Amino acid sequence: MFSLHTWLIIICLAYTVAELSNHFRITRTLLRLILLPFSLWELLVKRLMRKIFPPVFPITGSCHMCGRCCQNIIGNPPMFIRKYRLFTSLYMLWHSVIHDFEAYARGPEGEIIFRCRLLGADHICRAYWLRPAVCRDFPYQYWFEQPRFIEGCGFKSGEPKLNPPPSGKVE
Ligand code: SF4
Ligand code: SF4
Repeated sequence: MFSLHTWLIIICLAYTVAELSNHFRITRTLLRLILLPFSLWELLVKRLMRKIFPPVFPITGSCHMCGRCCQNIIGNPPMFIRKYRLFTSLYMLWHSVIHDFEAYARGPEGEIIFRCRLLGADHICRAYWLRPAVCRDFPYQYWFEQPRFIEGCGFKSGEPKLNPPPSGKVE
Protein backbone atom coordinates (compact mmCIF):
# COMPACT_ATOMS: atom_id res chain seq x y z
CA MET A 1 0.00 0.00 0.00
CA PHE A 2 1.33 3.49 -0.88
CA SER A 3 1.95 6.03 1.84
CA LEU A 4 0.29 9.46 1.81
CA HIS A 5 3.51 11.05 0.53
CA THR A 6 3.69 8.65 -2.39
CA TRP A 7 0.05 9.34 -3.29
CA LEU A 8 0.72 13.07 -3.21
CA ILE A 9 3.73 12.66 -5.51
CA ILE A 10 1.69 10.47 -7.90
CA ILE A 11 -1.18 13.01 -7.95
CA CYS A 12 1.26 15.90 -8.57
CA LEU A 13 2.99 14.02 -11.37
CA ALA A 14 -0.33 13.03 -12.97
CA TYR A 15 -1.54 16.63 -12.72
CA THR A 16 1.68 17.98 -14.27
CA VAL A 17 1.56 15.48 -17.15
CA ALA A 18 -2.14 16.19 -17.75
CA GLU A 19 -1.52 19.94 -17.70
CA LEU A 20 1.54 19.77 -19.95
CA SER A 21 -0.37 17.76 -22.51
CA ASN A 22 -3.36 20.07 -22.25
CA HIS A 23 -1.69 23.52 -22.38
CA PHE A 24 -2.29 24.08 -18.64
CA ARG A 25 -6.05 24.10 -19.16
CA ILE A 26 -6.93 23.35 -15.52
CA THR A 27 -4.59 26.03 -14.17
CA ARG A 28 -5.95 28.59 -16.64
CA THR A 29 -9.52 27.73 -15.71
CA LEU A 30 -8.73 28.10 -12.01
CA LEU A 31 -7.06 31.49 -12.64
CA ARG A 32 -10.07 32.61 -14.65
CA LEU A 33 -12.38 31.56 -11.85
CA ILE A 34 -10.33 33.59 -9.37
CA LEU A 35 -10.39 36.64 -11.67
CA LEU A 36 -14.10 36.33 -12.50
CA PRO A 37 -15.47 38.32 -9.49
CA PHE A 38 -13.11 41.21 -10.33
CA SER A 39 -14.27 41.18 -13.98
CA LEU A 40 -17.91 41.16 -12.95
CA TRP A 41 -17.36 43.95 -10.45
CA GLU A 42 -15.57 46.08 -13.09
CA LEU A 43 -18.43 45.48 -15.50
CA LEU A 44 -21.06 46.38 -12.93
CA VAL A 45 -19.32 49.67 -12.09
CA LYS A 46 -18.97 50.58 -15.79
CA ARG A 47 -22.64 49.83 -16.48
CA LEU A 48 -23.71 51.88 -13.48
CA MET A 49 -21.54 54.78 -14.63
CA ARG A 50 -23.05 54.58 -18.13
CA LYS A 51 -26.54 54.73 -16.63
CA ILE A 52 -25.64 57.81 -14.58
CA PHE A 53 -23.54 59.50 -17.29
CA PRO A 54 -24.77 58.14 -20.66
CA PRO A 55 -22.08 58.09 -23.39
CA VAL A 56 -22.46 60.59 -26.21
CA PHE A 57 -22.50 58.05 -29.06
CA PRO A 58 -25.28 55.44 -28.89
CA ILE A 59 -24.73 51.94 -30.28
CA THR A 60 -27.36 50.28 -32.43
CA GLY A 61 -27.65 46.90 -34.14
CA SER A 62 -26.91 43.47 -32.81
CA CYS A 63 -24.42 40.65 -32.98
CA HIS A 64 -24.89 38.07 -35.72
CA MET A 65 -22.12 35.86 -34.34
CA CYS A 66 -19.62 36.06 -37.19
CA GLY A 67 -16.71 35.80 -34.71
CA ARG A 68 -14.63 38.53 -36.40
CA CYS A 69 -14.18 40.53 -33.21
CA CYS A 70 -12.71 37.47 -31.45
CA GLN A 71 -10.05 37.32 -34.18
CA ASN A 72 -9.22 41.02 -34.00
CA ILE A 73 -8.94 42.00 -30.35
CA ILE A 74 -7.15 45.31 -29.98
CA GLY A 75 -4.85 45.46 -26.97
CA ASN A 76 -4.24 49.08 -26.07
CA PRO A 77 -1.62 49.00 -23.28
CA PRO A 78 0.03 52.12 -21.82
CA MET A 79 2.95 53.61 -23.78
CA PHE A 80 5.71 52.15 -21.56
CA ILE A 81 4.42 48.64 -22.30
CA ARG A 82 4.33 49.29 -26.05
CA LYS A 83 7.80 50.84 -26.00
CA TYR A 84 9.86 48.29 -24.04
CA ARG A 85 10.18 44.81 -25.42
CA LEU A 86 10.28 43.13 -22.00
CA PHE A 87 7.00 44.73 -20.90
CA THR A 88 5.41 44.00 -24.28
CA SER A 89 6.40 40.34 -23.93
CA LEU A 90 5.00 40.16 -20.39
CA TYR A 91 1.78 41.79 -21.54
CA MET A 92 1.40 39.27 -24.37
CA LEU A 93 2.28 36.39 -22.04
CA TRP A 94 -0.38 37.46 -19.53
CA HIS A 95 -3.07 37.54 -22.23
CA SER A 96 -1.87 34.26 -23.67
CA VAL A 97 -1.88 32.42 -20.34
CA ILE A 98 -4.98 33.93 -18.78
CA HIS A 99 -7.21 34.57 -21.79
CA ASP A 100 -5.83 32.29 -24.49
CA PHE A 101 -5.27 35.31 -26.72
CA GLU A 102 -2.53 35.02 -29.31
CA ALA A 103 -0.77 38.20 -30.45
CA TYR A 104 -0.32 38.24 -34.21
CA ALA A 105 0.10 41.85 -35.35
CA ARG A 106 0.81 45.42 -34.25
CA GLY A 107 -1.51 48.34 -34.97
CA PRO A 108 -0.37 51.69 -36.46
CA GLU A 109 0.17 53.17 -32.99
CA GLY A 110 1.79 50.11 -31.45
CA GLU A 111 -1.45 48.48 -30.38
CA ILE A 112 -1.20 44.72 -30.03
CA ILE A 113 -3.71 42.74 -32.05
CA PHE A 114 -4.75 39.35 -30.71
CA ARG A 115 -6.89 36.49 -31.89
CA CYS A 116 -8.59 34.21 -29.41
CA ARG A 117 -7.84 30.50 -29.36
CA LEU A 118 -11.16 29.79 -27.65
CA LEU A 119 -13.30 30.62 -30.65
CA GLY A 120 -14.76 27.41 -32.07
CA ALA A 121 -14.99 26.66 -35.78
CA ASP A 122 -18.75 27.25 -35.41
CA HIS A 123 -17.98 30.80 -34.12
CA ILE A 124 -19.15 29.87 -30.64
CA CYS A 125 -17.06 30.85 -27.64
CA ARG A 126 -15.71 27.78 -25.87
CA ALA A 127 -15.27 29.66 -22.57
CA TYR A 128 -18.44 31.72 -22.59
CA TRP A 129 -19.07 31.66 -18.81
CA LEU A 130 -15.45 32.46 -18.04
CA ARG A 131 -14.77 34.93 -20.84
CA PRO A 132 -12.70 37.99 -19.88
CA ALA A 133 -14.04 41.45 -19.07
CA VAL A 134 -13.07 42.77 -22.51
CA CYS A 135 -15.51 40.28 -24.10
CA ARG A 136 -18.28 40.90 -21.58
CA ASP A 137 -18.10 44.64 -22.19
CA PHE A 138 -18.19 44.41 -26.00
CA PRO A 139 -19.25 46.53 -27.85
CA TYR A 140 -17.34 48.99 -25.70
CA GLN A 141 -19.04 52.36 -25.42
CA TYR A 142 -16.63 55.25 -24.85
CA TRP A 143 -17.97 58.33 -23.17
CA PHE A 144 -16.89 60.88 -25.78
CA GLU A 145 -15.20 58.96 -28.58
CA GLN A 146 -17.16 57.36 -31.40
CA PRO A 147 -16.82 53.56 -31.26
CA ARG A 148 -15.55 51.88 -34.42
CA PHE A 149 -16.49 48.40 -35.56
CA ILE A 150 -14.93 45.80 -37.80
CA GLU A 151 -16.30 45.69 -41.32
CA GLY A 152 -19.30 43.38 -41.42
CA CYS A 153 -20.06 43.71 -37.71
CA GLY A 154 -23.77 43.90 -36.85
CA PHE A 155 -23.24 46.86 -34.48
CA LYS A 156 -23.21 50.46 -35.62
CA SER A 157 -22.51 53.72 -33.90
CA GLY A 158 -25.35 56.24 -34.10
CA GLU A 159 -25.39 60.02 -34.18
CA PRO A 160 -24.14 61.69 -30.99
CA LYS A 161 -26.76 62.63 -28.43
CA LEU A 162 -25.90 66.20 -27.49
CA ASN A 163 -27.96 68.28 -25.10
CA PRO A 164 -28.98 71.67 -26.55
CA PRO A 165 -27.81 74.74 -24.64
CA PRO A 166 -30.40 75.95 -22.08
CA SER A 167 -31.46 78.96 -24.21
CA GLY A 168 -31.94 76.76 -27.29
CA LYS A 169 -29.28 78.65 -29.29
CA VAL A 170 -25.52 78.76 -29.30
CA GLU A 171 -24.08 82.19 -28.45
S1 SF4 B 1 -17.86 41.25 -35.18
FE1 SF4 B 1 -19.81 42.09 -34.48
S2 SF4 B 1 -21.38 40.79 -35.38
FE2 SF4 B 1 -19.42 39.66 -35.49
S3 SF4 B 1 -19.35 38.45 -33.60
FE3 SF4 B 1 -18.31 40.35 -33.16
S4 SF4 B 1 -19.93 41.68 -32.29
FE4 SF4 B 1 -20.95 39.99 -33.32
S1 SF4 C 1 -13.17 34.38 -24.88
FE1 SF4 C 1 -14.90 33.90 -26.19
S2 SF4 C 1 -15.93 35.87 -26.54
FE2 SF4 C 1 -13.86 36.31 -25.79
S3 SF4 C 1 -12.60 36.56 -27.62
FE3 SF4 C 1 -12.45 34.39 -27.00
S4 SF4 C 1 -14.03 33.35 -28.19
FE4 SF4 C 1 -14.48 35.53 -28.26
